[in-house]
Amino acid sequence: MNTYRSLKESDKAAYDALRGEMKREEQGLELIASENTVSPAVLDALGSVFTNKYSEGYPGNRYYGGQQYTDIIETLAIDRVKTLFGAEHANVQPLSGASANLAAYAAVLAPGDTVLGMDLSHGGHLTHGHPVTLPAKVYRFVRYQTEADGTIDYDTLEALAIAEKPKLMLAGFSSYTRQLDYERFTAIAKKVGAISMMDMAHIAGMIAGEALPSPVPYFDIVTATTHKTLRGPRGGLILCKEPFAKAIDKAVFPGVQGGPHMHMVLAKAVAFGEALRPEFKIYAHQILENAKALEAEFVSLGYAIVFGKTENHMLLIDTVKSRGVSGKDAQAWLDLSGISINKNVLPDDPRGPLDPSGIRIGVPAVTTRGMKEGEMRQIAGWIDRALRSGGKKRALGAIRKEVKTLCKAFPIYR
Ligand SMILES: *Cc1c(COP(=O)(O)O)cnc(C)c1O
Repeated sequence: MNTYRSLKESDKAAYDALRGEMKREEQGLELIASENTVSPAVLDALGSVFTNKYSEGYPGNRYYGGQQYTDIIETLAIDRVKTLFGAEHANVQPLSGASANLAAYAAVLAPGDTVLGMDLSHGGHLTHGHPVTLPAKVYRFVRYQTEADGTIDYDTLEALAIAEKPKLMLAGFSSYTRQLDYERFTAIAKKVGAISMMDMAHIAGMIAGEALPSPVPYFDIVTATTHKTLRGPRGGLILCKEPFAKAIDKAVFPGVQGGPHMHMVLAKAVAFGEALRPEFKIYAHQILENAKALEAEFVSLGYAIVFGKTENHMLLIDTVKSRGVSGKDAQAWLDLSGISINKNVLPDDPRGPLDPSGIRIGVPAVTTRGMKEGEMRQIAGWIDRALRSGGKKRALGAIRKEVKTLCKAFPIYR
């Protein structure tokens, strides 16, 4: 493991904060569904001299000189990710999931065009048309919702699409646990003459590892983040069918971004290489098994599982209904127990986003550490104890001790 000697010598305050974070990650349970723990090789790539280089443009066609090696790594990242997902075209320059989505919108929409996207409180992402975002001010977003049983009713969606005539139909989510019907979704888009787009940010790694079906054959455009289940550096990614390739590349640069972050592109290439290895399939399938084990334990403890059940890496729990504890209190109490989760709004949540009715729990990071079904049952037990503690410091401190002991047995960076 890197000892960060130069940083320690030159900037004590920055070094101390870094050490603190390393300890926090090592000694606590990371159950935030959007987070993961990258390999030492990915960390090496992120800390490399590629951060020094400007490379506006694309391989073989850049604005500045000195691009022998940037061309090699960007081509490597593109080739690997195309193989990984069987994609016709890939752009690896988006700085984040939000910028990937912004570029995808810019590539195919004109201001005022209509987009169908999933409602935030029903699992959709902010960037899918939430009124506080810039895209919602530029385009006309109409948001669809889930049914009481947690599924999407595709007949209702079809009727909405016929009525609204969207230019773009957007699938994808960040707080939703059920599998989408890609074939039906894209058939509706085709029927109403809309371009289809899937934002697979959360589940990209599960798809790469073949634990979940792939949207790539069905959708015109697929966006993703590279740092969630895909276990790469923080960043974005756009895959598309060949007819959209030129528009996508132009929208990323110069449309919405300047120079790409080449240290991040190198780290993406490394992460895509890791995801192509057979071990990654085992990892992705274990995520699914762990989520199911965690859910089964919560069900046996009498918890209310939102959306009916989980079919991916996360679950949402109605903590108010289950234990009379708000999402905000649950998050604070679990923080004191050494367990990171996030409070989360639930469909049509009567409480606000700052103190919603539930929490979201994800297993990608603890699965990376090597934890399996047995540890999931233990984790559910600790969460239950924390929620029953009434927030008493002593009870939470006792849980924290046990959490620390488990974490010691599953070191992140040896
Ligand atoms: C996380 C996420 C994003 C945004 O990614 P950032 O890298 O945080 O900008 C976009 N869409 C979905 C569905 C996400 O889950």
